[in-house]
Order: sequence, then C-alpha cells, then structure tokens
Amino acid sequence: MLTIDTPTRAEALLSAEEEHVAHNYHPLDVVVASGSGAVLTDVAGRDYLDFLAAYSATNFGHGHPVLLAAARDQLERVTLTSRAFHHDQLAPFAESLAALVGKEMVLPMNTGAEAVESAVKVARKWGYEVKGVPDGRAEIIVAGGNFHGRTTTVISFSDDPDARDHFGPYTPGFVTVPYGDLAGLESAITEHTVAVLLEPIQGEAGVRIPPPGYLAGVRAVTSRHRVLFIADEIQSGLGRTGRTLACEHEGVVPDVYLLGKALGGGIVPVSAVVADADVLGVLRPGQHGSTFGGNPMACAVGRAVVGLLATGEYQERATRLGVRMRDRLEGMLGHGVVGFRARGLWAGVDVDPSLGSGRHVCEALAARHVLAKDTHGSTVRLAPPLVITENQLDAGLDQLEAVLGELSRSPGRRVRPILSE
Ligand code: PLP
Repeated sequence: MLTIDTPTRAEALLSAEEEHVAHNYHPLDVVVASGSGAVLTDVAGRDYLDFLAAYSATNFGHGHPVLLAAARDQLERVTLTSRAFHHDQLAPFAESLAALVGKEMVLPMNTGAEAVESAVKVARKWGYEVKGVPDGRAEIIVAGGNFHGRTTTVISFSDDPDARDHFGPYTPGFVTVPYGDLAGLESAITEHTVAVLLEPIQGEAGVRIPPPGYLAGVRAVTSRHRVLFIADEIQSGLGRTGRTLACEHEGVVPDVYLLGKALGGGIVPVSAVVADADVLGVLRPGQHGSTFGGNPMACAVGRAVVGLLATGEYQERATRLGVRMRDRLEGMLGHGVVGFRARGLWAGVDVDPSLGSGRHVCEALAARHVLAKDTHGSTVRLAPPLVITENQLDAGLDQLEAVLGELSRSPGRRVRPILSE
C-alpha cells in the first residue's frame, strides 16, 4: 500500500545511484527519462530546457531525426567489425570529415580523451621520425587552465588539483605556459618541442576566449619553429561557436584538429584526430588502435553529423541565436552578472559571487526547469543545443534573470529541484 513516505521513482533512483555508482560526479537532482530537441523530460514527466547539451555533445539536440535514421539504419546492418576487417562506413566517414575540415586523413577513436592521447602519440612519433628530436626527449607545450580529459597522461598536464591530486606519478614531457600569452609560449619552445596543444576557447575553464590575434600568433610561432599546432576542438568545434571550427574565427588552420563530443551526435562516442598525411602518416599497423574506434555505427552516425554540418544551417543558428543570447546577457550585467564571455551559442557567465556560487544558480535554474552547469566558482556555462528555438532560448534566459533577481533579494538562498512532486 502506498503511504505518504513512499519514495518517488526519482528518489529511489537517486538513492540506488548513490549506493552503486562511484561518486565521481555531483549531478543536479533531476532524473532524465527522455529528450527531444532542446527539451529533457524527467521520470515524473516534467519538461526541462537543456542549456548544457551534454557539454556540447548534443549540439544537434536530442533525437535528431536524421541522426536517428542513420543510427537505426546501421543498427540493422552491422555495428562492430573491429579494424581487423574493412567495412563500408569507414571510408565515406573519413572522406567526408576530412573534407569538412580541409585535411587529408582521419584517425578514428571514441572519447575525447582518447583523441588527445592519440594526438600526443602521433606528435611524439612525428617529432622523432620527421623532425629528428632525440628519442625519449619530446616536449609538448600546453596551456594553463586547460581541460583535455581524464586519462593519466592527460591529467598529468592539468593544473586543476581535483583532476590531478593523488593520481600520480605523472607522465613527463609536458610544459605549461599561461593561456593567451604568446611571448611565454614562444620562449618555452626548445629544440625538443614537437607540438603545442591548445583549446581555441577553453570550455571547462569558463568559456575563456584568448586575446584577438593569439591563435594566429600561435600558428606563426609553431610554423617558424617547426612545431605541430594541435587544436583541441572537442568542445568548441562542430558548430558551437557559429563556425564549424572555433579556429576559423581567427582564420587559423592548425596542423591537427581533435574532434569529439558532437561528432557522435549524442548517440555513440565518436572522436577523431584529423590532419594531413605528413603527420598522421607516421602511424604504421600495430602502433595504435582501438577495438571500437571507427566502428560501423560510429562512422554512420559521424557521417550523418558531417552531413548536417555541411549544410551550414547549425553554424548559422549558433551565430543568430548567439547574438540574441549575448544581448540578453548584456542586459543582466550589473544585475547579478559581473561579466561574461560568449561566442556563438556558448557563454561563460560570471555571477556576482556575493549572490551565491554557480552551483546555487544551477540548482535554482533546475527548480525552474532549466538545466545548466556551473564551472569554477560562480561561473555558469550556457550551451543549449543548436536546435533550440528562439522562444525556448528566451524562456531559459528569462529564468536565469529571475534566479538572479531572487538571489539578489536573498543571497546564498538554496533552491533545490523538487524530486518528491
Ligand atoms: N577536450 C576538451 C576540450 C573537452 O572539453 C573534453 C571534455 O569535456 C575532452 C577533451 C574530453 O572528452 P571526453 O570526456 O569525451 O573524454
């Protein structure tokens, strides 16, 4: 018999998760059961506007019909062969992705961190075999505040204590310079430097946009010193900023692009290292691989994603809706917002810390049926799916304004999403 104390389905799921899932995340108290476009629906049937888009992995929204059709079609054919055999989806995927970003070759992997790891290996090998760096001495320059994933090597060059502490010993061979400081970067280059690895916009750091001319400067410096420029576009790429690649805003063409997240259409993990043959050509059979990398399902979905991007529609939406979002955020400056950085449909919003943390804001937003994610301190990241409508975008931003108003009246007030309704 039901009593007033019977936990709701959401509460039961949360407590089972607490007991049986490692506590490596601190999610908002919302239990999603389905999604469509820019809307997520919880287990009690309540709708929420998605203002995170799975950290830009669902740039095309939830259940995009073209992506679902590609996945369903491939599901009926073959989903996994391993790379021990050829299959009919790999070449068309690689060819279309390479053409989309103007490079020759693709190394298909699964997660973003794997793409970064793969690029580290490729850059080192290129350094030894092409540039002539003495074996075992290769150095890669990275930027302070970076986020490139969670594997042991990748966290070895993170400066975030949460990501790093107590996970050593760390992989050597990385040199960190301040993000946006071109002179600092150039002075860190030695005869052993094989690559500079950067996010063209630092997403996890709070949508940090480097000073104008920085990326072009990195391109010039790396070319001058015969060092590979690797752009990690895993979060910034594939339409988010209003261009296919964030580097395009500065007219910069790096040697290597790292892509992930949205490349899998929110359906399967798909990542890739994309470069010309003089770089990716250093890999020979047996030297790198993945059982799942480049599988038929991943390639079918990835190719459909490339098809969507090739229309230019999503880049155009990100630009147009991004202008709208920027206008609204400008109106919030001095009214709970102390600063923001935005490019395309992507913003890092610094809330006045005296009102509360980014977490406070995100909890209060969730209670008002808008799902966003804080980054560091009092910064909230806004990255709705690019398919969001103007009305949905306005509705979400109205709620942000309302939350800031509430927090101005009672700073630090915690409003949690209600699971027991
Ligand atoms: N690189 C960047 C710029 C990212 O933002 C992320 C994830 O947030 C990654 C790499 C790691 O991707 P994944 O979580 O798929 O390993």
